[in-house]
Parts: sequence; structure tokens; C-alpha cells
Amino acid sequence: ESIRQTKWLASEYYYLDETESTNMVAKKLAEEGAAHGTVVVAGRQTAGKGRRGRVWETPPKTSISMTYVLKPDMMPGNASMLTLVMAMAVVRGIESLTGLEAKIKWPNDVVINGKKVCGILTEMSAQMDYINHIVVGTGINVLNEEFSDELKDKATSIYLETGKSVQRAGLIEAINRQFEHYYEIFMETQDMSVLAKEYNTLLVNLGGQVRVEGGKEPYVGNSRGITQRGELIVDTWEARRLVSSGEVSVRGV
Ligand code: ATP
Repeated sequence: ESIRQTKWLASEYYYLDETESTNMVAKKLAEEGAAHGTVVVAGRQTAGKGRRGRVWETPPKTSISMTYVLKPDMMPGNASMLTLVMAMAVVRGIESLTGLEAKIKWPNDVVINGKKVCGILTEMSAQMDYINHIVVGTGINVLNEEFSDELKDKATSIYLETGKSVQRAGLIEAINRQFEHYYEIFMETQDMSVLAKEYNTLLVNLGGQVRVEGGKEPYVGNSRGITQRGELIVDTWEARRLVSSGEVSVRGV
């Protein structure tokens, strides 16, 4: 508590040595009435998830697993942009603490030197036009010295990139401060109109070729940054396409 540098974020803070997934705990707390800005952190997750139920590896004592409970007065259709807001906070938090240049792989990953250092998973409970709660979960590889054979080529950690052991508590604090800042800007318009320009400077492979998979037909095009709705603009040889974050993967970092 003594090091808290945020105004409203983490005014309620739960630390668990071990849990299945911080998103699961956060959802339960949200249903039980936890305040907007509640933060759940775990030293270890035993069932961390990525998108589409994929596994997010979190070996003990190496990672940050953190989830925010948010209860914004906002239309449910705007919620997915909070993933982009969180990615900005993670990039800036890592940068402020380590000087590393991290980049965003739209919509939900942060990479360093082309390898994934962080994944973000946003989940929502909502009525037609009313949000009950949103949980924004983040897994960050901090102290990992190695990865499984499957991840070796595509994952990295702060430790592997700097050779230094960054304190997880300090990184959490830095990210929370950044998130509070970007969230407040986001909520003024409830879209990315103010943040898009800065977001695009943090985007990996801006202007480069990307491959969009998971829709009806995969296609390639050039990444042109995001719209104020948070969609990725991809120019193919025949048309401009707007990719919404739902269920697609964008390759080519
Ligand atoms: P893609 O790059 O395919 O678009 P995604 O952003 O949809 O991926 P998620 O579903 O968010 O990915 O994350 C799950 C995937 O991330 C896993 O399938 C695995 O490849 C990778 N992964 C799992 N654990 C880690 C980790 N600790 N660090 C980096 N990558 C991981």
C-alpha cells in the first residue's frame, strides 16, 4: 500500500500466492460487488488463459498475472478498446522501468524484439446496453530465464531482454500508473480518438505487411494503424479493410 501511486486504481488490492486465473477471481469479486478499480495479482496462475481458451504459461515466481475490475458507465460495444488501452500502459510501464522499447502487436500482445512478453485478455459481463463489469487481465513475462520448446522462438521476458531482475512490484506500480492515465483519457470520449495517434507510434510493424487470419478467408495487406474505434486498418491490393479485434489473429511481427 505504501508505494501506491495511483488515485483510484488499486484502492482495493488482492494478492494471492497462487490461483487458477486472476480473471476468474476478478470476475467473482466483481459479481460480489468489488469496486471499480479493484486489482487482483497472483504470484502464480495454474490455469492462465489466452484468447479462445488457449493456454497462457505462467511458471512460478517469474511472471506478473494481474487483472483489473472495471465498472465504467459506457456502452458494451466500446469495451474491447480497453485491451488497447492496457497494451499502451504495459508498453509505457516497461519502458519507464527498463528503457526497453516494447511494441504492441494489435490487439492484445506486447512484444520486445519481435517476441511476446505480454498477453492481455479482456472479458465482459453486460446487458444489451449496460456493462455489469469488465475484467482486463494481463500476463507479463518478467523473470523467466527460459521457455518451453513450443514458446522458445516466440516468447521473451524482461530478464532475457535486459539481463536484469526487475522487481515485479515496481513494474506493477508503473503499469497501474500508466493505465490510470490512459484510461482517463479514453473515458473522455469512450473511444481511441485521442489516443490513436500515440497508439500507432507503439504499433509493431506499422506500414509493414500483415496477415489476417481467423475470418472467412485469410488475407494479407499493409498495416496502417488503428481507427478511433480501435479497429486495425489493413490495406490489401484491392481495398481498405477494417479489422475488429474479435476473433482474428494478425501475423507478421
Ligand atoms: P496470436 O499471436 O496467435 O494472435 P493471441 O494474441 O491470440 O495469439 P493469446 O491467445 O492471447 O494469443 O495467447 C495464447 C498464446 O500465447 C498461446 O497459444 C501461446 O502460443 C502463447 N503463449 C502462452 N504463454 C505464453 C507466455 N508466457 N509468453 C508468451 N507467449 C505465450
